[in-house]
Amino acid sequence: MSLIVQKFGGTSVATSEKIMAAARKAIRAQQQGHQVVMVVSAMGKQTDALVDLARQIIDEPPAREMDMLLSTGEQVSVALMAMAICALGGKAVSLTGAQIGIKTDSSHTKARIQSISTDRMRKHLDDGNIVIAAGFQGVDEEFNITTLGRGGSDTTAVALAAVLRADSCEIYTDVDGVFTTDPRLVPSARKMDRVSHDEMLELASLGAGVMHSRSIEFGMKFGVPIHVRNSASFSDDPGTVIGPAPESSDRAVSGCALTKNEARISLSGVPDKPGTMHRIFSRLAKVNVAVDMIVQNVGAGGRADIAFTVMEADLQQTLKTVGEAADELGGEVTHDANLSKVSVVGLGMATQTGVADRMFRALADAKVNIHAITTSQIKISCLVPRSVGAEALRAVHDEFELEKEPGSRASFGNGGRAAERPSPVDVVSRLQRMEDLTIDDIRLDQTQGRVTISQLPDRPGIAAEIFEAVAAENLLVDMIVQGAGRDGVATLSFTVPRDSVPAAVAVAEAASKRLGCGPVTSDPATAILSVFGVGIRTHVGVGSRMFKALSEAGINVEMINTSEVRVNVVVGADRGEAGLAALRTAFADVMG
Ligand code: ADP
Ligand code: ASP
Ligand code: MG
Repeated sequence: MSLIVQKFGGTSVATSEKIMAAARKAIRAQQQGHQVVMVVSAMGKQTDALVDLARQIIDEPPAREMDMLLSTGEQVSVALMAMAICALGGKAVSLTGAQIGIKTDSSHTKARIQSISTDRMRKHLDDGNIVIAAGFQGVDEEFNITTLGRGGSDTTAVALAAVLRADSCEIYTDVDGVFTTDPRLVPSARKMDRVSHDEMLELASLGAGVMHSRSIEFGMKFGVPIHVRNSASFSDDPGTVIGPAPESSDRAVSGCALTKNEARISLSGVPDKPGTMHRIFSRLAKVNVAVDMIVQNVGAGGRADIAFTVMEADLQQTLKTVGEAADELGGEVTHDANLSKVSVVGLGMATQTGVADRMFRALADAKVNIHAITTSQIKISCLVPRSVGAEALRAVHDEFELEKEPGSRASFGNGGRAAERPSPVDVVSRLQRMEDLTIDDIRLDQTQGRVTISQLPDRPGIAAEIFEAVAAENLLVDMIVQGAGRDGVATLSFTVPRDSVPAAVAVAEAASKRLGCGPVTSDPATAILSVFGVGIRTHVGVGSRMFKALSEAGINVEMINTSEVRVNVVVGADRGEAGLAALRTAFADVMG
């Protein structure tokens, strides 16, 4: 018998009428011959209200008690949902995370699922019940209640679909599906018919709040088909399918996203030697802070400047932790909180040129000053002042004409770059510890060289000018990293194929002169080491494990960039092989 999981988000269960409507949907699915598991969120803004209540009592509530409190929201809605089904003449059983047997680790408020037992759910299903599962919650080994992080009901739903081997997982929400960007911020945003796992994973972690990013990791790892739909729609609107294939095969950019509350931490004047990165990032991993947009600039006199971003909610913890590292290493810590990150995402970017310069031009024309840039194969992120974040998002959405239907639809089957990764592995082998880190591959790329332009003037349009000049020479740029160093003076580095380095240097020198930048330096041959996996940015330990392994092998890291499926570091060309060997050893226990 086929089985479907239907998840209803907060707005979709905000009133008794909406609960009844959701119950009708589930009953209809059951009448069509499916077994049905519902996953339900807390009603409306109930979780926000509980957070607020806790903060009225204490500034920093103990995490364990916070989970005890927040889990109550979902307990209310599952009970009401079961009653609604009963009122409609159906049979239902509501279950909390503990009753289902959702075992998590003990990191309260950001817990990861370790295992889920299916026996109790199966028994209730076989008895003809609709099973109603509380989203967002689990229990640790000691039966302390845990929660999975805000928006975590999506992850409960996809995880249940994975363990039950459901035929599909339907996510009912308050919009028609996944849009090219948040339709509340950009009214012209278009609903997509399909979006690939890789793209959705990036979009979700870069601010597209419609899906919890860890739910997409499950979708990818276990091959769960996910359908995002509007709970208010009476018709069977197909919504958006999140699967292996992208919507279009010819578009460079599929979507864009904004994370509003970013903070940047700069650590200037630290020793430029192996081990520095490790000292800083291992401490942050220990306190479970996810770090993004890491930029390192090599300065004068054996000292380097390191800057990175964190979610503003993690700022205090980060400052404390980095302060401790600075006491040990030397260096000065500064921070800036009023920033947002705008990103474009698309599988097509991996094979098309001219995306970066268009994004930078769109921002320049909107008079947006870019404070930092990082790229990965399928995304470009720019740090911008928070006051112009939404405007920057609109400018980028317009530039790539995302409101228009794509010209050609991609075929099913091959998910473009998704083919780089092994196909979803045998479910059973990975179910033991569901959210554990698995690394799919570690690679060495010896085709690239680096160009660095120093002392960029602090005004809009600089990155646009430089990359338009680079694109005019048809140079294929791989990584781009720009960040502020000491005194806020920014440096921009990028990599190009080795035989293009002389041409890229010439372009950079001309641009530098025209724009009033400082000297251009280059490295004709670098080595890029990449670690591939799913959701490796949310596994905070990956970066620190990499830095540790490289530091122990005496290898200095020159450039870094991260995405949800890959971390790249640039090291000297002569250290590539040694770095590869060090990383293979360091990740041996988690290679999939
Ligand atoms: P739920 O309570 O159903 O989980 P959420 O509020 O978590 O709903 O997610 C739905 C919201 O996500 C939408 O109302 C929309 O404003 C926002 N959103 C952000 N980015 C996107 C996007 N790319 N596509 C669709 N919705 C988005
Ligand atoms: N109720 C939780 C929250 O608001 C979980 C969820 O809705 O997904 O974050
Ligand atoms: Mg949500």
